[in-house]
Amino acid sequence: MKSKNNRRDFLQKGMLVSAAAVAGLGACSPKREESGEKVKMLTTDGTLVEVEKSAVKKVPYKPVSPSEARQGIPGKSFVMVIDLSRCKNARKCVTKCQKMHALGPEDEWIKVFLMQDSNDTAPYWFPKPCFHCNQPPCVKVCPVGATYKRTDGIVLIDNERCIGCKFCMTACPYSSRVFQWKEPEDNQKMTDMEYSPESSVPTRVGTVGKCDFCPDMARQGKLPDCVTGCPNGVIFFGNKNEDIVSNGTESVRFSELVNDRAGYHFLAELGTQPNVYYLPPVERLFNYETGFNNLTDEQKEFYKNSIVKKH
Ligand code: SF4
Repeated sequence: MKSKNNRRDFLQKGMLVSAAAVAGLGACSPKREESGEKVKMLTTDGTLVEVEKSAVKKVPYKPVSPSEARQGIPGKSFVMVIDLSRCKNARKCVTKCQKMHALGPEDEWIKVFLMQDSNDTAPYWFPKPCFHCNQPPCVKVCPVGATYKRTDGIVLIDNERCIGCKFCMTACPYSSRVFQWKEPEDNQKMTDMEYSPESSVPTRVGTVGKCDFCPDMARQGKLPDCVTGCPNGVIFFGNKNEDIVSNGTESVRFSELVNDRAGYHFLAELGTQPNVYYLPPVERLFNYETGFNNLTDEQKEFYKNSIVKKH
């Protein structure tokens, strides 16, 4: 029988706990050594309590059925807002996404570009995930129905159905899809895990991958990996139906954020209706030059040669 552990349990040992689980474990584990470290958690009646960390029991996330993964999470309409004024190319969104999806260093499901609007304006950093378009050209060209649009707005790929024809890669005007040429190192550790299009692991070599908006995290009430990985609060994520987005520390009204800060869609003229909004890089918190700190020589060379001109 296949393990039901998901990638978070495996890679991050993330904890999903319940008060009942803690009470149960504490009662039946008299030999447990207490570390003295406490964690905060909510009980089932909504009370915030502190408990001994070693008493917290990990409850594995169970992947949903294939039909649920195809339909989406009821009542949700996921949206992302990327604040370009806060980005300094820390690249933690990239590396955390790679870690949690067991991607190799050459595969980036969220990329950070160096963008310049005109010769007279300063460049800025531009993180780009899949836009989970409401009119996704990638979905329309798939000959086997492997990629699909869900009711919650997320565009996913079923890698068990994908035949690797790359039509979707050609159709995406934002180059958001990547071909999975080889097996990532971490994949070997996940071969007994149950595949789900919602977690996108284990990787299926010879198929297409991309940013999935981390729906398995959303089902646990958690934010996507790129959001929590960013140290500068650049990426907000939430449910448009509830008009709330959060970057992990700030929760704000989606409509106010986008209206007040002149949110826009990248290449809106293509008519794909993305579910990712950008806030312009005005009054930036960091000069773009700081984005070169801590980069390898190879990365510096890449950025030097790949500035994206919008003019
Ligand atoms: Fe498809 Fe590209 Fe839009 Fe993502 S950004 S939904 S891959 S067309």
